[in-house]
Amino acid sequence: MTIPVLGNDLTEVIEADRAHLWHHLIQHKPFETVDPRVMVEGKGMRVWDAKGVERIDAVSGGVWTVNVGYGRETIAKAVYEQLVKMNYFANSAGSIPGSLFAKRLIEKMPGMSRVYYTNSGSEANEKAFKMIRQIAHKKYGGKKYKILYRDRDYHGGTLATMSAGGQDERVMQYGPLAPGFVRVPHCMEYRRHQQDGAPVENYGEWAADQIEQVILREGPDTVGGLCLEPVTAGGGVITPPEGYWDRVQEICKKYDILLHIDEVVCGVGRTGTWFGYQHYGIKPDFVTMAKGVASGYAAIACCVTTEAVFDMFKDNADDPMNYFRDISTFGGCTAGPAAALENMRIIEDEGLLENTVKMGERTVANLRALMEKHRVIGDVRGKGLFCGAELVADRQTKEPVSEKQVAAVVGECFAQGVIIGSSNRSVPGLNNVLCLSPALIATADDIDAITGAIDTALTKVFG
Ligand code: PMP
Repeated sequence: MTIPVLGNDLTEVIEADRAHLWHHLIQHKPFETVDPRVMVEGKGMRVWDAKGVERIDAVSGGVWTVNVGYGRETIAKAVYEQLVKMNYFANSAGSIPGSLFAKRLIEKMPGMSRVYYTNSGSEANEKAFKMIRQIAHKKYGGKKYKILYRDRDYHGGTLATMSAGGQDERVMQYGPLAPGFVRVPHCMEYRRHQQDGAPVENYGEWAADQIEQVILREGPDTVGGLCLEPVTAGGGVITPPEGYWDRVQEICKKYDILLHIDEVVCGVGRTGTWFGYQHYGIKPDFVTMAKGVASGYAAIACCVTTEAVFDMFKDNADDPMNYFRDISTFGGCTAGPAAALENMRIIEDEGLLENTVKMGERTVANLRALMEKHRVIGDVRGKGLFCGAELVADRQTKEPVSEKQVAAVVGECFAQGVIIGSSNRSVPGLNNVLCLSPALIATADDIDAITGAIDTALTKVFG
């Protein structure tokens, strides 16, 4: 079968989609009367749909994934060459790209040491949860089993990661959830007025202290892990307040709690450093990553740990219950690390971290300039090419605009040829953050085109 290309009649593809596909995260009723969206080609920052319409992709494949942009022939070639040589062997054995990518990755993560391969961000997080649980059994007779997660953070769509899910609407109808996961409050300075007792001064320390309060309530001897995004992604692009991370680390140390940083979105350059945690001087015990690791050219995710964590699984070597009793079948696919190695080379050789910092600053500056004109923008947040603009009906009360209005802004941008995103609703009525996460190759012209489309869309929707 030949794969249809741009310019050909794609009626069969669209009808097959309508008849048989179940897309992620959307209501399908409208597809009874309108065509589902089918993406056909991509090059650099741009994508073409089945109707041949070109658009700028300001969200890297919809969910902040295609960090190095579309159409990278050198990644395709690296994957091809690896696949014809050795496509797969269970990860109880190693592979050439698996070993080499682990080495390159660890070079970017001082203090970290071991890479466990798996398929998706959810699974990488589950691996960290399982390691934390097993350590609780090995070191604390099973007692230190609880894992803390934060309001508004997201860690995946499996049952355990949903149990650690801080976005209620993604979780609500899927219970009962797994026990042993406990929520801590968010650290969103812009909405501190909704948190009882939150101070104006030293909010970051206060927000971190709320985690300590939960630990004390639960009993420190029952809490084994704390899982946090460095910058909360889908929960509203929440950059951490000053002083937050230092305090979080002190608390983890004080109560012997393992710190798990979820870098599924922030990892591999998105925020302008290799990893988001590296902005804040954090020393994690676990770092999980997925999306940008191979920019979507192959499925690969990693759960990375320190040597100290790894060592805990080597003691009592004669006891078969003592090693990490886990397998991920496709963690042995070699396409992932082969693509990831080339992905990393591209980021380095093309200076994409530096570009991300520069273009991220430009995005934030453009959005802040729009605040002068559009009173509906209440707050602009960003770290590298990972930016959000929060829309409010009233700057004083910070009451969010409606989801319908946000959808109208996103739709207007789409009509102008720019794909942007909006954050997931965490509390009813709060799906009000426009999200931008373009590929790290974005130019000044691309950024200006993206924020220009937002300007026009805001005028159309809000006047
Ligand atoms: N963690 C974070 C922060 C995410 O944003 C996501 C996905 N959006 C995941 C974990 C889950 O990754 P996956 O969809 O690959 O399972």
